[in-house]
Amino acid sequence: MTSLIAERIAQVRQHLPASVKLIAVTKQVPALAMREAYNAGVRDFGESRIQEAASKQEQLQDLPDITWHLIGTLQSNKAKKALEQFQWIHSVDGLKLAQRLDRLAQQVSCQPQVCLQVKMLSDPNKSGWSVPELLNDLPELNQCSNLKIQGLMTIPPFGLNDSEILSVFERTRELADKIKQQNWSHIQMQQLSMGMSDDYKLAVQAGATMVRLGRILFGGRPTLQ
Ligand SMILES: *Cc1c(COP(=O)(O)O)cnc(C)c1O
Repeated sequence: MTSLIAERIAQVRQHLPASVKLIAVTKQVPALAMREAYNAGVRDFGESRIQEAASKQEQLQDLPDITWHLIGTLQSNKAKKALEQFQWIHSVDGLKLAQRLDRLAQQVSCQPQVCLQVKMLSDPNKSGWSVPELLNDLPELNQCSNLKIQGLMTIPPFGLNDSEILSVFERTRELADKIKQQNWSHIQMQQLSMGMSDDYKLAVQAGATMVRLGRILFGGRPTLQ
């Protein structure tokens, strides 16, 4: 018998080109449900918080081929832990954090894959570079040679309609293209981490290469009052 989670994964996959990586976002999702996703073929898991992830990583130790993605805001005092626990960090949201991760990566000799989180519209609820700030910081980011900067991550502000959301995603892709054309030696722009449960189809339409899906796979998270 296929599980509900496996069914939902199969359904979502019908809307994803094979080249788009499905990242199962498992904040507040128990390890048992993650195993179901794993059994349905998911190998990429996204977590928002270091500590919650650590507990699940321990419970899922017997599944060695998982790639762990940090997608939530990273405080700089937890940067070292993040490097130890995650192969990907999607939420690198400023130059200071990037430089700190770069130094730490050198110390522990790892080469984390990272996305630069960018805000296409101003949004006080989100962290990330504005477009002008990011363009301004590229020369210094290019010096972060221990990081594998792979692309951009974005989350549209709440309350946009579909065409506005699509426009945010398209402009993110255009920004990545523009940076790509500048031919930085240590900045790749092959990856676009964008799209969540409510907007992933728009993200795919705009060229997302990684979608981060939680509720649509695991059901609603309890809302915090
Ligand atoms: C929670 C979260 C997701 C997944 O959101 P859903 O709406 O549950 O699909 C994706 N990206 C980030 C950064 C998140 O915090």
